[in-house]
Amino acid sequence: MAARSFKRVLVTGGAGFIGSHLCRRLLEEDCEVLVFDNLLTGNMANIAELLGHPKFSFRHYDVTNYLYVDGPLDAILHFASPASPADFERLPIEILKVGSLGTHKALGLAKEKGARLLMASTSECYGDPQVSPQPETYLGNVNPVGIRGVYDEAKRFAEAMTMAYHRHHGVDVRIVRIFNTFGPRMQIDDGRAIPNFFTQALRGDDVTVYGDGSQTRSICYVDDLVEGIWRLLGSDYIGPMNIGSQAEISMLQLAEKIVGLCGSQSRIVHKELPADDPKVRRPDITLARKHLDWEAKVSADEGLQRTHEYFVGALKARESGA
Ligand code: UDP
Repeated sequence: MAARSFKRVLVTGGAGFIGSHLCRRLLEEDCEVLVFDNLLTGNMANIAELLGHPKFSFRHYDVTNYLYVDGPLDAILHFASPASPADFERLPIEILKVGSLGTHKALGLAKEKGARLLMASTSECYGDPQVSPQPETYLGNVNPVGIRGVYDEAKRFAEAMTMAYHRHHGVDVRIVRIFNTFGPRMQIDDGRAIPNFFTQALRGDDVTVYGDGSQTRSICYVDDLVEGIWRLLGSDYIGPMNIGSQAEISMLQLAEKIVGLCGSQSRIVHKELPADDPKVRRPDITLARKHLDWEAKVSADEGLQRTHEYFVGALKARESGA
């Protein structure tokens, strides 16, 4: 199926950080975009300016319930889920339900409509990896009963369900394993490292690095991620595919960089490292290079600069009560 034939697309979680960027891209590609989102961690502000678009519609809906869409559907981008480690303790049951029941419903709808379903999976499938970089063939090192297990196992289950619908029912599926992504429209208070560091640095508060800060992440600017997802949607590659940047950085270096970018006087303080926090994370993107001719283009510095501008504006809006 050629990419341009995705005329009508449902995005679950379309009011979220990544979901809302995807919606914009799909509209630019001239798709009609339907969003279902229960706004648990999504935010109407992310899609406010899309609401008047003739090809965009929003429904406040929890996708763990039966999904009904009138008319044809060419693709479903299943992106509904809380995804910040801060949510793993706050919303554990919701995360397990949307990964399992929500994915089941989305796949059922894909089967009914003959739509291609692209499932948003995660580098968390690899847990605290013992190999680095992580290729898709690495089976992971996940603690199923740890605090992160609710997200890791929900997504691992969702991958298993997606492949079962593909093998058993012939549903056309794609699976993207998303690595750390950042950029405008991240929620100020979502608890992840980049929003925390910007918010703390811009307010002059202590910047909280968990543990000694030697743990690494590879940070990908959201526009690059969206490009990769768009290409994967239009590609023939079915199995899980990593999409993420090669820009691996320690959390201490990242905190220092953000404090510098903000021109902040904030101190860096160390807090307890959460349980099962991965020590390293970097994608092997051989598959994405080969099948999608994709790699991240925006440098970490450039992406952080753009994200800085966003957080300055978002904090001003928050403080003025807008
Ligand atoms: N982290 C940190 N300070 C914070 C928030 C997070 O040092 O205020 C660390 C966290 O322990 C992890 C890394 O930053 O090692 C990335 O955390 P994030 O919540 O962004 O997502 P993760 O990659 O762990 O899913």
